[in-house]
Amino acid sequence: MKKIVIAATAALLVSATLVSCAEEQKNGLGRDTTPVQNGSVPDTSASTGDSDGIVMEEQNASIPVGGYKDISVPASAVNNQTIRWSSSDESIASVDNSGRIYGNKAGDCVISADFDGGENGFFIMNVTVSDCTNAQGLTYINGVLVVNKTYSLPSNYNPGVDDEANAALQKMFHAAKADGIVLEIVSGFRSYDRQSTLYNNYVSRDGVAAADRYSARAGHSEHQTGLAFDLNSLEESFGETKEGKWLKAHCHEYGFIIRYPKEKEEITGYMYEPWHVRYLGEAVAKSVAESGLCLEEYLNVTSAYREIGIKG
Ligand SMILES: [Zn+2]
Repeated sequence: MKKIVIAATAALLVSATLVSCAEEQKNGLGRDTTPVQNGSVPDTSASTGDSDGIVMEEQNASIPVGGYKDISVPASAVNNQTIRWSSSDESIASVDNSGRIYGNKAGDCVISADFDGGENGFFIMNVTVSDCTNAQGLTYINGVLVVNKTYSLPSNYNPGVDDEANAALQKMFHAAKADGIVLEIVSGFRSYDRQSTLYNNYVSRDGVAAADRYSARAGHSEHQTGLAFDLNSLEESFGETKEGKWLKAHCHEYGFIIRYPKEKEEITGYMYEPWHVRYLGEAVAKSVAESGLCLEEYLNVTSAYREIGIKG
């Protein structure tokens, strides 16, 4: 029977620090051009030379609070047995049946997996969960300021429209105009207090569950960063207009992404918003666009309000 063992030799260890609480960039727009690695363990598990054992290439993982990491174990490595995952401290990191580890709060714990009785088939990973929130209350994952249902901004964070994002927006507007496309701002920077009023009005009108699909709670709106803009029309049909199509095709060239893409509501936490763009800087925006992933997937982070609980 094959088993997964812990590598004893340093040479076989590849320490995985997949997501870093990178130092914030000059103004936090995410110019860290280091590509985000996929969190999966390569299928090419190194062999110890012992035909009876398989060494996972990673024994250490670093996950931000609110982030996750997928551990893929080839079915062949466990004789197609079901793996039972467990955590030494679920308040720090929890793990689901598929081997996705979620960082819940800062600390260290051990994720283990066993199969086929457990005695000979097991695998242990030391997990360090780090809080990526800085002293100002801003969370940077791989250099990108992240604001969603998991990550919030402090109520006193009130930067106004970001100059660089605004300049990039104007550049994009000019390029669009040259193509016969008229783009205009409907909504830009929004303060904590303004968002609070808006959200509470939506809740009064539609209820919490409905409001949470299209409006952020105070402190959770990207508009409070000064890096997000709503353009032209707040209608889903905007995505089908020539303006909406141009925006989707070209916004990354100017450093923006369509932040809440179609069919990603389960991941971003928001309905499709073809009008909402977020500034990331050209390098990161291009990388996200080319990945075909939404920002949460790209950074391996969740988007869920804490009282509902992090998935897993
Ligand atoms: Zn918006």
